[in-house]
Amino acid sequence: MADFAARAEALDRTDPLAGFRSRFILPDGVIYLDGNSLGLMQHSVASRLARTASKEWAEGVIRSWGGAGWFDLPMTAGDRIAPLIGVGRGEVAVGDSTSANLFKCLAAALHLRPGRSVILAEGDNFPTDTYIASGLAGLVERAELRFLEPGEALSDRIGAETAVVLMSHVDYRTAEIRDMAAVNAAAHAAGALVLWDLSHSTGAVPVDLVAADADMAVGCTYKYLNGGPGAPAFAWIHSRFYPEVRQPLSGWMGHLAPFGFERDYAAAPGARRLVCGTPQILSLAALDEALAIWDDVDLAALFEKGRRMTAFFIEVVETECRDLGLQLAVPRDCDRRGSHVSFRHASGFEIMQALASEGVIGDFRAPDTMRFGFAPLYLTFTEVYQAAVRLRDILVERRWDAPAFRKRTVVT
Ligand SMILES: *Cc1c(COP(=O)(O)O)cnc(C)c1O
Repeated sequence: MADFAARAEALDRTDPLAGFRSRFILPDGVIYLDGNSLGLMQHSVASRLARTASKEWAEGVIRSWGGAGWFDLPMTAGDRIAPLIGVGRGEVAVGDSTSANLFKCLAAALHLRPGRSVILAEGDNFPTDTYIASGLAGLVERAELRFLEPGEALSDRIGAETAVVLMSHVDYRTAEIRDMAAVNAAAHAAGALVLWDLSHSTGAVPVDLVAADADMAVGCTYKYLNGGPGAPAFAWIHSRFYPEVRQPLSGWMGHLAPFGFERDYAAAPGARRLVCGTPQILSLAALDEALAIWDDVDLAALFEKGRRMTAFFIEVVETECRDLGLQLAVPRDCDRRGSHVSFRHASGFEIMQALASEGVIGDFRAPDTMRFGFAPLYLTFTEVYQAAVRLRDILVERRWDAPAFRKRTVVT
C-alpha cells in the first residue's frame, strides 16, 4: 500500500499538468471521479457569468447581441472546440443539446444519401442516441432504424441501404475507443456516412476528425470540457458536404440573413446553418470561458495523464480488491481505453452510494456498472490512490450493505 502511495506522490510531483488544478473550484472533502458526467467549475467561469449577467445583460441589454458578441457566440465557442477535434475554424456550431444535434445531423445524413433508408445505430450506445434515431425514423417515411449489436461486425451489417452509421467514439460504459478511421473507411466503401458521438472523447482522448476522414460529429460540453450543467453541445459536418447540408431544425438563427425577416428559409453558409434558434447566452458564456483553458493545455500530456491515471486506478484496485467480486469492464490496453474505468459488481449501485457518502463521487450505470471518470486537468494521482483504498475498505467491511444505500432515488 505504502508503495502505491509513494508512487502516487511521485507521479504528482512530476505531473506537467499539476498547475491546472488551482483553476478549478474543488468541492470540499470530495474526490471527484465524475468529471466524465459533469465537469468541475473553474474560478474564471464564476466571474464570467457574473460579468455576463451584470454588464452584458443588465446594462447592455439588447445592445449586447452585437456589442458583446452574443450573436457570434455559437461560432466563436465552436472555434475553441475545433482544435480539440481536429477541424478548422468556422466549422463547429455550438448550441442546443447533444440530443438535438444528433437529430439535426442524422436528418442531414439522410438528405445527403437520398437513395438509402437505413440508420445503423449501435445497440448499446448511450440511450439518447438510439431514442433520437428512433424518433427520426418514426417521422421520416423512408427511414428505418437497425441496430448493430455488440460483437457484430460492421462489414456484415452495412450495405447498399445504409445511409448513416451512428456510433460513439468512446463507449460510455466500457470506455472502448472505436477505430474511427477504420469505421469511416468501411462505411465509405459501402457508400454510407458515419455520425460520431464524441461526448466521452472530447477533452479526454485524441480526436482528429479530418485525419480520420470523418463525415459528421456531435458532442457534449459539460463532461470533460467543463462547460456546466446543460451546457450547449457542438456539431460538425465536413466542409465537403456544404452547401448541400440541410438540417430540419431550420430556425432563423441559422438563416443566411436572420434580420432580413424573409419568408423563405435560406441557409447560412457552412456550419452556422446548424444553429437553430436564439442561443442560450448564459450557458454559452460559461462554456466559452470554460474552454479558454484549452489554449494552455498540452494535449499530448493530457492524454498521457489520462492513460496513466486509469492504468494506475486499475492496478491499485485489482491489487487491493482481489477476490472481492469486482470485474474490470474496460479494455486493458491504454490505447483502446477512454478516460474512465468501469468495474462490474452485483451490488455496484450500493457500493457507489457508500463511496459517495464517504466523499468519493463516481457514478453507476445499470445494471451493474460502477464508473469512475478521470479528468486529467484537475485530479491528482494521490486522489486516485485514495479512492481505490476507500473502495477496498468499503468492500472488505461490507459498508455498502446498509438500507440507506439501497434506495434507488439518487441520480448521479
Ligand atoms: C452524455 C451523452 C449524451 C448527452 O446528451 P444530452 O442531449 O446532452 O442529454 C449523448 N450521447 C452520449 C454518448 C453521451 O455520453
